Amino acid sequence: MNQTEDAVVAEPVNLMGLSEAKLIAFFESIGEKKFRATQVLKWIHQFGVIEFDEMSNISKVLREKLKKIAVIHPPHVIKQWDSVDGTRKFLIEVSGGNAVETVFIPDGERGTLCVSSQVGCSLDCSFCATGKQGFNRDLTCAEIIGQVWIAAKSFGQLAEKGPRKVTNVVMMGMGEPLLNFDNSVDAMNLMMHDNCYGLSKRRVTLSTSGVVPMLDKLGDYTDACLAISLHAPNDALRNELVPINKKYPIAMLLASAERYITGLPDNRRKITIEYTLIDHVNDRPEHAEELAVLLKDIPVKINLIPFNPFNLSNYKRVSNNALRRFQTILVEAGYTTTVRTTRGEDIDAACGQLAGAVNDKTRRSERYGLPGVVSEDVVKIMSHSS
Ligand code: SAH
Ligand code: SF4
Repeated sequence: MNQTEDAVVAEPVNLMGLSEAKLIAFFESIGEKKFRATQVLKWIHQFGVIEFDEMSNISKVLREKLKKIAVIHPPHVIKQWDSVDGTRKFLIEVSGGNAVETVFIPDGERGTLCVSSQVGCSLDCSFCATGKQGFNRDLTCAEIIGQVWIAAKSFGQLAEKGPRKVTNVVMMGMGEPLLNFDNSVDAMNLMMHDNCYGLSKRRVTLSTSGVVPMLDKLGDYTDACLAISLHAPNDALRNELVPINKKYPIAMLLASAERYITGLPDNRRKITIEYTLIDHVNDRPEHAEELAVLLKDIPVKINLIPFNPFNLSNYKRVSNNALRRFQTILVEAGYTTTVRTTRGEDIDAACGQLAGAVNDKTRRSERYGLPGVVSEDVVKIMSHSS
């Protein structure tokens, strides 16, 4: 084959990241029936099989054909850490010298996987380690759903179809999922698909800091749960903590979130309001009172997250007294208000500590004097693997 012919040979398609609709379109484009998509979805996501030769209900002829034009590539796990409290963190290699982190948090019968959607984040919230690392790129759908595949496989959940270990997924790892809309939505829909991971729509949550135009479209594509990273009861304070608030202020954000949640067919669901409590910044009783008034007509539950410190941040964790006071005011105002317990601290896996390795295109990390924010372990591992 000469070079010109070489150049037009298409890259093999990675079936790992195709939604059901895209997989059907793929099979139809090669003259095959659409039920092949169901078979392949089950092999990959229910049984964890990524070799075509192991797909026993697919004819040899079709398997050979698939091998020429397609691959099934989950991302590669560089390293895995296990915390004393059962939390497990995966450092996952994604191309371009980048790595993202995925965290599994067991809690009794429940196992929550915290999934990343981007390499870094472009939004730069003042209290977030991921934001300080700058941004490289969106993860592909294969890289997002691949994190679920990897975790489920690591617990033997796929091959044996044994008891589910990953029962819940939160899109609360690195990145802003609404800025990687199509891939995040496709991946969440695979998580909830009966032929894939079969998670209930009440157990898959998208968390956003407030990209309102995309939130306005979300209900057309998925019915997963919604968490809003609010962190402040008024625009002046939120502008400091969550810079995207200057573009899409609180009233606009809450109105959009309410439209999403009330538009869902099962209309008893609530928006989770995430509020990271930072010592002497947003933890005063006045803030709690203002928050109670702000949310009074909206179906919400509130999740308080004590700030998790990281290198290069001068913020401090909320005191236990201030945390209790804040929670009491909200509970007395009638809100279901939970406090997120910090898990996996010994392996840097707590909320907002996820850093991975970001080949920063924005050069923001230089301004902050990185690699200070990346755990030393990750720097060592990445320099060996590149
Ligand atoms: N970009 C999305 C999802 C990822 S952040 C969002 O902002 O919602 C997931 C959650 O972790 C957010 O609520 C975020 O505000 C919180 N978080 C970030 N840094 C934190 C820190 N240092 N301590 C505690 N929570 C943090
Ligand atoms: Fe990005 Fe969310 Fe971190 Fe803000 S809190 S910088 S939106 S990952």
